[in-house]
Amino acid sequence: MSLVERDLNVIWHPYTQMKTAMPPIPIVRGAGACLFDEDGTRYIDAISSWWVNIHGHAHPYIAEKVALQLKKLEHVIFAGFTHEGAIELAERLLQILPDNQKKAFYSDNGSTAVEVAIKMCLQYWHNQGLSKTKILAFSNAYHGDTFGAMAVSGRSAFTAAFDNLLFEVEFIDLPDLHNLSDLKSQITNLKSQLACFIFEPLVQGAGGMLMYEANLLSELMAHCHQEGILLIADEVFTGFGRTGKPFACNHLSQQPDIMCFSKGLTGGTMALGLTTCSAAIYEAFLSDDKLKTLFHGHSFTANPIACAAALASLDLFLAPETTENINRIVKAHQNFAQKIASHPKIKTIRQCGTILAMEWQTLDDTSYFNTLRDRLYNYFLSAGIILRPLGNIIYILPPYCITDEELNYIYTKIEDALVEV
Ligand SMILES: *Cc1c(COP(=O)(O)O)cnc(C)c1O
Repeated sequence: MSLVERDLNVIWHPYTQMKTAMPPIPIVRGAGACLFDEDGTRYIDAISSWWVNIHGHAHPYIAEKVALQLKKLEHVIFAGFTHEGAIELAERLLQILPDNQKKAFYSDNGSTAVEVAIKMCLQYWHNQGLSKTKILAFSNAYHGDTFGAMAVSGRSAFTAAFDNLLFEVEFIDLPDLHNLSDLKSQITNLKSQLACFIFEPLVQGAGGMLMYEANLLSELMAHCHQEGILLIADEVFTGFGRTGKPFACNHLSQQPDIMCFSKGLTGGTMALGLTTCSAAIYEAFLSDDKLKTLFHGHSFTANPIACAAALASLDLFLAPETTENINRIVKAHQNFAQKIASHPKIKTIRQCGTILAMEWQTLDDTSYFNTLRDRLYNYFLSAGIILRPLGNIIYILPPYCITDEELNYIYTKIEDALVEV
């Protein structure tokens, strides 16, 4: 039996309507920005495999560090015990994050990093005997697929089956020049109940690569702080260079109280989540009263192999070559965006750092279920490019090691698609 037949016998894939989806493509190997299937067909991974792979596939340096760690220590319970990798990773990350970030709490993935952040905020107030139990978020937000993370995400087709079970959240629009003062007064009206405000800084990824201005977010953040509302920056997607700077928060004049990381954290090698927080958050849990403990943990919290992968990924991320690569992609995106911006089939084109998103003109409304999606997806796949449109929005966010040749090939195929699809 082929891999595909065996897969279809036993596997249920994520975000996939199994009745109508095309059979999955069995990938056997990766190198640089490329993946190879059983028959040796090459695919350029233009979306970094769901936004995680920042240094290319099967990177030999990360592989070597992971292999060494595997022979030394594969795992240890993280309550009552510790290990060097977790300590070193926290030390090194806290050094490059906004300087109010003082403690690191590990988990397994982006959704759990968000769950931890939400619990930190709610219990921060609870531990002080204060009743602030509401959360503020942006409509169209995406913070993950577990129940708490879903609750603070915009209500959508993804959440419809669960909507009446999700805790109530206050949603506001993304800020623009016209609504900023209105958003501020909405926040002021709710301030006595609001525990925190969670947001994806600069770019709402799964919501459709929606982008908004750093200075407007900074203003909202300053207003929240003035009103005593904690701030959670969900950098699960934007962290580690995506926006052109190491972290999206580096574009802001305000500092969040809590930050969430995953995706690029291990260079896409291992599942790992991280929530960092300020001293004030941490100190609100210090007490002789055991009930003030943060009762949260996962079996694989701070897994040593995942930490080794993250440390290796961080070495690569901090190398000057990576910054050069990021700048190179930013420039190439800018040039390409300029070239096709006025094409009649392009409704809007927007860029934030290494993320370039294009909304295609269609007869249907812009949506995740837009029928253009499958045609675009298949067009690029048959050209050997993995682009996974969000409805009629296509986006490129490649591994930073992608070559100019590969990048230009993607641009050329997008231009071809503008003619042929
Ligand atoms: C992907 C994502 C998450 C969820 O991360 P998972 O590892 O998929 O659970 C949370 N927040 C943002 C902004 C994301 O893009």
